[in-house]
Amino acid sequence: SRTPLTLLGTGDMGTALARAWLAAGHPVTVWNRTASRAEALAAEGATVARTAAEAVAANRLVVACLLDDASVGEALDGADLTGRDLVNLTTGTPGQGRARAAWAEARGARFLDGGIMAVPPMIGVPESGGYVFYSGSPELFAEHRDTLAVPAGTRYVGADPGFAALHDVALLSAMNGMFAGVMHAFALIRPEDIAPKDFAPLLFGWLTAMAPAVHQTADQLESGDYTKGVVSNLAMQAAGIPTFLRTAEEQHVSPELLTPYLELMEKRVAQGHGDEDGTGMIELLKKEGSH
Ligand code: NDP
Repeated sequence: SRTPLTLLGTGDMGTALARAWLAAGHPVTVWNRTASRAEALAAEGATVARTAAEAVAANRLVVACLLDDASVGEALDGADLTGRDLVNLTTGTPGQGRARAAWAEARGARFLDGGIMAVPPMIGVPESGGYVFYSGSPELFAEHRDTLAVPAGTRYVGADPGFAALHDVALLSAMNGMFAGVMHAFALIRPEDIAPKDFAPLLFGWLTAMAPAVHQTADQLESGDYTKGVVSNLAMQAAGIPTFLRTAEEQHVSPELLTPYLELMEKRVAQGHGDEDGTGMIELLKKEGSH
């Protein structure tokens, strides 16, 4: 028989998770702050608990998928976590993951933090490639990995409960930068000049062709040699800055998404590192007191 579990939070993501577990034959107890949002799942076989405390009492394995870390604290305030295995799939910071782990352990629970690398339609669809980063209690993960693997792939990234969030937020941060570039590019082309539908496949191809550069960055960071294997040196790239800015101006587009990156590039070149590529710019992002 399949492991029964409790799911706190039946928003878009929580509902998708619940459906995947129900479809796989797991008994699921759900709770949602706004009860009406959990009712649809009752028709699909879920047990709806009236309070979070009641939902937590129903099963040893308790999964939370709420809006943010504060809502996890609010929802679980007053619930008895003794002997529970709490898996927190709520997006948060590494520090929040660590604090929530200590909080859960002080209440007698084992704790695993998770960072979901999927959108709701990818949940329960193995071929979508969606997965969840997990970090925290290795015992909890070992015991429940088959159950956790039902809605999405699993990647355990260490006992430090902050590491799931660190992986998650680092990937999402890179995504934000990529989308910033994408928005700027679409603004530049203007539909009256180039049809977005004609441009999109070119953009997709270019981003895909450039993506392997991340391996070069990792290689340079690990060797400490930022000039290793450079193909497009920073001095050459910086010489192109006026072209970026003037093109934006000619197309009546604000350069505000590009300028922070271009300014950092200029600064690194001014420090005498024109023979590197972008990796050395990471040095300029480090703040006092970082390791
Ligand atoms: P929704 O906005 O759809 O749902 C939010 C959930 O949090 C609801 O169940 C809501 O309850 C509950 N909630 C909010 N505040 C509180 C509170 N103070 N106390 C108790 N419950 C509260 O968000 P999602 O389901 O999409 O997201 C849930 C988590 O999953 C987030 O951390 C998100 O970052 C993460 N995630 C989402 C992805 C997505 O694409 N949707 C992708 C990857 C991660 P109520 O119905 O009562 O408002």
